[in-house]
Amino acid sequence: MKAVAVIPKKEKSVHLVEMDKPELGDFKDGRGVLVEVLRVGACGTDREINNGEYGVAPRGFDFLVLGHENFGRVAEVGPNVKDLKAGDFVVATVRRPRGSSIYDKIGTQDFTTDEKYYERGISRIHGYMAEYYAESADFLVKIPPAIAEIAVLLEPLSIIEKGLKQASDIQERLKIWQPKTAAVLGTGNVGLLTVMALRMRGYEVHGFGRTPRAGYLNADLLEAIGATYDSTAELALTDSVAKYGQYDLVFECTGFSPIIFDAMQTLNENGILILASVTGGERRTDAVPSDKINQMFVLGNRAMVGTVNANREHFEMGVKDFALCEAMYPGWLGRMLTHKVSGLENYAEIFDILDNPAKYNAIKAYFEVRGF
Ligand SMILES: [Zn+2]
Repeated sequence: MKAVAVIPKKEKSVHLVEMDKPELGDFKDGRGVLVEVLRVGACGTDREINNGEYGVAPRGFDFLVLGHENFGRVAEVGPNVKDLKAGDFVVATVRRPRGSSIYDKIGTQDFTTDEKYYERGISRIHGYMAEYYAESADFLVKIPPAIAEIAVLLEPLSIIEKGLKQASDIQERLKIWQPKTAAVLGTGNVGLLTVMALRMRGYEVHGFGRTPRAGYLNADLLEAIGATYDSTAELALTDSVAKYGQYDLVFECTGFSPIIFDAMQTLNENGILILASVTGGERRTDAVPSDKINQMFVLGNRAMVGTVNANREHFEMGVKDFALCEAMYPGWLGRMLTHKVSGLENYAEIFDILDNPAKYNAIKAYFEVRGF
């Protein structure tokens, strides 16, 4: 079978490889599932791995098959799989509990404290940019046919669902918390999915990006789902509270770290700020009103939390939000799937889109590995 791989840590090494089709005999507990891949999404993580920034090959291999945003159909199940059958649509989770931390041992590997981690398509396990993969049924989430068309977006959504679950868990400290307004910083595909998830929870949502409003498809999408869009070039985030009031929840996914200090100043009393950008650079900022921020957090019982990765329960939460969104705003999620590339052999097209976001105006680029 064909697969798209990189030589980890080697710049621009993406290439096509030929591999054996995986077999269920490797799953000694009979819980193996063979999945034919239908679609695989591509994102900045794939671009960064292809740029040689990170990524680790599985033991015994000098290459790593890419791909973590997946959608497929069950082809065959092992003798002890009762929860899935051939023909079912599935999305697989990404991180596996193979580390030594206590969190791996209790199945919450998204909280691992190990330095080495195991993630399909990213670190130490081959990914989903292949014609088939085999996986334990324990890591497969069943997808209702009604959301099959947009299910390739579930993995990116799962990260957001985890962030929102973290926030609601933390806010249980308050006994009563009735959040009404939220700000989402960043309006790329992660920002759009965050706005969607918050709208499904009934929030009044305000999205902020750097792109001017005129002609910006992502802003059209925000407004179509009942949110607002403002370009921070025209309305600074800290000034936005004069227009919209302070926010009960702020979700940061811009990748521009200095904005978090502005975000802290826009939180309502008892509010929570969720940080979800992985900022690997060296950026620094010193324009921070530290007395003001510190006092706001102390006197207003505000909270801030970082979040990464997701577990099975967060994928399951995402399935529900997708189903609700398709019912409330039919076709809205499908508008995020802007760039389809048919066939794994056309991987160069996907990476050209990832490398030149401004040229393509892509929200989500993905492989259609096989029609369905
Ligand atoms: Zn991704």
